[in-house]
Amino acid sequence: MADIVIDRVAKSFGDFQALKEVSLSVGDGEFVALLGPSGCGKTTLLRIIAGLETQSSGRVVIGGRDVSGLAPRERGLAMVFQNYAVFPHMTVFENIAFGLRMQKVGQVEVKRQVDRAAALLHIDQYLDRYPAKLSGGQRQRVAVARALAVQPAVLLMDEPLSNLDALLRLEMRTELKAVLREAGTTTIYVTHDQTEAMGLADRIAVMYGGRIDQIGTPLEVYATPATRFVGGFIGNPPMNFIKVKASGGQIRVGSASLPAPVRDAEIDLGLRGEDAALSADGSGIPFDVRVVEPMGSHLLLTGAIEGQLARIVTPPTARVQAGERVGLTVDPSRLTWIDAATGRAIA
Ligand code: ATP
Repeated sequence: MADIVIDRVAKSFGDFQALKEVSLSVGDGEFVALLGPSGCGKTTLLRIIAGLETQSSGRVVIGGRDVSGLAPRERGLAMVFQNYAVFPHMTVFENIAFGLRMQKVGQVEVKRQVDRAAALLHIDQYLDRYPAKLSGGQRQRVAVARALAVQPAVLLMDEPLSNLDALLRLEMRTELKAVLREAGTTTIYVTHDQTEAMGLADRIAVMYGGRIDQIGTPLEVYATPATRFVGGFIGNPPMNFIKVKASGGQIRVGSASLPAPVRDAEIDLGLRGEDAALSADGSGIPFDVRVVEPMGSHLLLTGAIEGQLARIVTPPTARVQAGERVGLTVDPSRLTWIDAATGRAIA
């Protein structure tokens, strides 16, 4: 079993608390993405799991073994870090073979595993080259291939696809997902790219300010964000938030009235742009359209609800023009009710 338990791990750098008692359990063979904006503590957490950084308090348990005090190489994991350099004096082949050589794997098997990993990462034509003659993206793929070649039970990755162009990034993402799933590798993957996290992960831990705001499947964090931050970070466009006041268990938006889950409170009402539809007769929530952007698969409408910025997604054939006021219908069950005082969702 290669499950990972992160138990109340905290980390301070001097007076600055980079991690505030983070707990997370990753199942054997599970893929968990750590997602969050720059500086939220994702890399620090990954480095602590790897043993490259020491936590101020808390424990890391891998496969039932407390590894908190162990050196990185004693933890039985492979890692790919953003700036994890490849060895400049070794060819691509020898770079990828490195971990296998350390394990004293036989020559035939080394070649087989290196060829497999190199083919997967589309670097098989560079096996004889030295890293200096590779692009940044190619070097990054060598680092990923080196980690995959040893078929680790646990794999830690920090933005391993960051140097690739959009198309290659998508392709690598798909292949990485397939190969890790097939191998049953327990994976923790750091990214600030929500599309990557949504596409790859079984569950996403959304981090903000040294904490995990929410852990859930991609659908859970998208459809039922636990905090205002998660709603605004996940989704494209991000969730809209309209400030409203619940009074006597009702809210009013324009001429529309909706039942609220609380009697009296300041609410940030979360509305996904793709959960609103243009009403046929202009009824519903008034939306002042300022800009219409045809995106091919849909129209992106930017405008205002009650003077507050909102983005709405409609079918590409919708007839709507900038400067128009339209009406939106929404399914109340799809709304997210955030208590404005705490920033947390009202259950
Ligand atoms: P990014 O996506 O930019 O890499 P991140 O979420 O991975 O961000 P971390 O690298 O974990 O963020 O850093 C978290 C916070 O801790 C940041 O504010 C950073 O400045 C701080 N920090 C990280 N390492 C150190 C260090 N060695 N000394 C002091 N502060 C540090």
